[in-house]
Amino acid sequence: MRPSPAMQLTLKSLRLSGIAESLEVRLEQARESSLGYMEFLQTILQDEVERRHASGVQRRLKQAAFQEHKAIEEFDFTALPGINPKEIKDLATGMFIERKEHIILYGPPGTGKTHLAQALGNRGCRSGYTTLFVTAAKLFRKLATARIENSYEETMRTFLKPQLLIIDDLGLTAFTQEQTEAFYEIVAERHHTGSIVITSNRPPGDWPGLFPDLVLANSLMDRLAHKAHHLPMKGESYRKRGRPQQAVTN
Ligand code: ADP
Ligand code: MG
Repeated sequence: MRPSPAMQLTLKSLRLSGIAESLEVRLEQARESSLGYMEFLQTILQDEVERRHASGVQRRLKQAAFQEHKAIEEFDFTALPGINPKEIKDLATGMFIERKEHIILYGPPGTGKTHLAQALGNRGCRSGYTTLFVTAAKLFRKLATARIENSYEETMRTFLKPQLLIIDDLGLTAFTQEQTEAFYEIVAERHHTGSIVITSNRPPGDWPGLFPDLVLANSLMDRLAHKAHHLPMKGESYRKRGRPQQAVTN
């Protein structure tokens, strides 16, 4: 039996789209299995809960703006002897976001830093945390443009608001004074709002040399690097794998 137009209207005005979607099938099932009133109610409410959860995850994944959908399950830990898979799996529970802790993944190109950072973000979205992925270059470019267009505060808020901010490829080049101040603001303000995951080709020990201002550099290192989970990614570039072997000539 199809739900009546009046019922459809009621479900719509209460925004119960999960029930609206499943009601016809559930009514059929209830009739066939002589479901009790309570059981029927429980079933359709559960449909609504599941629908809301799924659409929340989809919304957060979209807002996160990942470059690619990467999962922890696709990660080959044997390629990184310095990383304890258990530590990554613990981090993937999302507890670090709850505790507003930070993570720094550093190592040579191709070792899976961006993959793991996005995979942790993916898990974050699924666990209910708002997430944003951005490259350091894009973050600084957006803030520089916003400064000219008088929308600095608004743009800064987009980096402060998510419970998890992932900054990819930080420290490829030295920071300008303006970038240092912006980065300091992000780190200092996010102290109250949530976590930062950073990927970098350079170990955190080398970062102070990239800042023009030693006082800000020390303060940044104190707030960020000294309190973060450090994940050194030492290994061969995964990108090189699967390339045809070079012919041996002798
Ligand atoms: P990085 O950010 O360190 O330069 P990426 O995360 O971009 O490296 O990895 C390069 C490519 O290799 C990506 O497609 C990534 O999914 C893959 N990759 C890297 N390391 C691993 C790994 N340990 N297991 C599975 N895939 C990997
Ligand atoms: Mg990368």
